[in-house]
Amino acid sequence: MNLKNAIALVTGGGSGLGEATVREFSAVGAKTVILDLPASPGAKVAESLGANALFVEADVASGDQVTEAVAKAVAKFGTINVVVNCAGIGRAMRTVTKEGPHTLDLFSKVIAVNLIGTFNVIRVAAAQMAKNQPGPDGERGVIVNTASVAAFDGQIGQAAYSASKGGVVAMTLPIARDLASLGIRVCTIAPGTFETPMLAGLSEPSRKALAAQIPFPQRLGRPSEYAALARHIVENEMLNGETIRLDGALRMAPR
Ligand code: NAD
Repeated sequence: MNLKNAIALVTGGGSGLGEATVREFSAVGAKTVILDLPASPGAKVAESLGANALFVEADVASGDQVTEAVAKAVAKFGTINVVVNCAGIGRAMRTVTKEGPHTLDLFSKVIAVNLIGTFNVIRVAAAQMAKNQPGPDGERGVIVNTASVAAFDGQIGQAAYSASKGGVVAMTLPIARDLASLGIRVCTIAPGTFETPMLAGLSEPSRKALAAQIPFPQRLGRPSEYAALARHIVENEMLNGETIRLDGALRMAPR
């Protein structure tokens, strides 16, 4: 799908990988809808892009809020052609800690945002995409999800996060199959370690240690590199039902 004049909804578009995607898509002529939490920098990002960008507040884990957010996007721009799911949280806890078992609340929260939130946005947005006029090859929409290499090699403390991202990887093919007859493609990007606010809490030595684990290039990924792949997935009609690692050949160690 050509991004020029496409309408792209990016969850978590106020920060990190999502913000980079909004800016990349916007630079090639897409209209962008930034779906993010009220306290996020989403409104500021939208403001910096002018009339072709809209900020909508929503928690991806809420059925009502996402339905309302998609309705607002459609009211402003007419429809949605592209979704990039970047909203996510990373929380770490061992299965058993000195204080006792992993809290069930934390496990549920990570699954609710990263996995259920991703599916929630897909289901509502795809129902809207189904109404689009098909392109020359029958294409009506493209959905790009964000997993993580933790879906495959989760580290100590990542049970909840890895389970949530493993779920995103696992549902990519069945959703692509579900939506094939509607002309909607679905792919997932599994990033390694990227230089975003999510990693900003780490000390400089920890960031250097993370970068040192990457065979080549031995540095953290740039959000623009994620955005470039998201753009390619949208533009390359043969990519469907697949998860692509974007990690410089990183295979995470246990810790
Ligand atoms: P980030 O913290 O910079 O951005 C995440 C965005 O998601 C924020 O704007 C936040 O407000 C939003 N968000 C969080 N919970 C939300 C909710 N319930 N509803 C709506 N929006 C919500 O992080 P990032 O590094 O850009 O991460 C983006 C995605 O990439 C996440 O899914 C993350 O798990 C994944 N990822 C990141 C890395 C990395 O190294 N940075 C690696 C692998 C995967």
